Amino acid sequence: METGQRTDIKSMYMEELQEFVKRLGEKKYRAKQIYEWLHKKQAGSFEEMTNLPKSLIEKLKDSCILTVLRTETVQVSKEDGTKKYLFALSDGNVIESVRMQYKHGNSVCISSQAGCRMGCRFCASAIGGLVRNLTTAEMLDQIYRIGKEAGERVSNVVVMGTGEPLDNYENLLRFLHMVTDEDGLHISQRNVTVSTCGIVPKMRMLADENLQITLALSLHAPTQEKRSMLMPIAGTYALEEVLEACRYYFYKTGRRVTFEYSLSSGVNDSDEEAKQLIRLLRSIDAKCHVNLIPVNPVRERDFRQPNRQSVLQFQKKLLESGINATIRREMGQDIDGACGQLRRKYAAGTGEP
Ligand code: SAH
Repeated sequence: METGQRTDIKSMYMEELQEFVKRLGEKKYRAKQIYEWLHKKQAGSFEEMTNLPKSLIEKLKDSCILTVLRTETVQVSKEDGTKKYLFALSDGNVIESVRMQYKHGNSVCISSQAGCRMGCRFCASAIGGLVRNLTTAEMLDQIYRIGKEAGERVSNVVVMGTGEPLDNYENLLRFLHMVTDEDGLHISQRNVTVSTCGIVPKMRMLADENLQITLALSLHAPTQEKRSMLMPIAGTYALEEVLEACRYYFYKTGRRVTFEYSLSSGVNDSDEEAKQLIRLLRSIDAKCHVNLIPVNPVRERDFRQPNRQSVLQFQKKLLESGINATIRREMGQDIDGACGQLRRKYAAGTGEP
């Protein structure tokens, strides 16, 4: 929690904050007040914490970092109201987050890293490689800033933005506990989804954390051979091991696992591949759900969306075999909806809306 000399106060659990205020020579109840300002009221500065004595505010300013993301740009989709935020971090890096409005509430998609080192062939976030992990506070504050700006409660969180969340495991776990904490935003664990490219040991660790969050696996191909062409991580963890880890997650948590499958024309959308996928999912013997994502074309990448007919055909095959499959609504396509695209544009100096 100590960054150099200063403490990253927004990444601290309540108990740690209590210890911290004690060390500052303050009464324990001050920790609860500060925690409330940080995580319930989502204060943007120490000065806003008006029920704290001035002397304590000064101490906090001297000894702590308060992570508050700066909004660089907001793009609003004319099609569906989806908003894409580009946030600046204190070291000048930028990250992106997306807010989607559904009938049943607001969902925020957050980034877990600046950049990513997983190298998936179709993904814009992979292009510049990993810059660094995000802190817990930086993950939380994406939701806090968006919730504040919208003036509406965020009800769902998906960790599906830039980065591989399980490659930033400790900060992610802390984030998961804090975002669902009843003294904070108190989002229901069942309304939080973490998406992974399939880092097997970490999937198993997550299964053992006793959480009720949803795990989504980026599958994208029904065979080891095809998957390893699209996702370098498949060279480290074979499809069979990844599926075994999904089964383990289901067994430990009782939570249905989501499989993401981005459909690219001529790459993974054939009838044969639909059949292979059906066989594969039947074999895993766990409750599951397939989310078909027509691939978002990325400027630097050569993947094309299948036509609507083929997407529907692929879905129909799954449904007919009793596999629950939905087609992801393509939200915010007009505002660089695909992961990492806005951030890339910004890095290339063309990020102005
Ligand atoms: N690292 C995590 C989160 C990444 S983004 C993971 O791999 O799951 C969330 C989802 O979007 C992943 O399934 C990812 O594979 C997918 N994705 C990335 N780029 C895409 C694109 N251009 N079109 C469609 N889906 C894409």
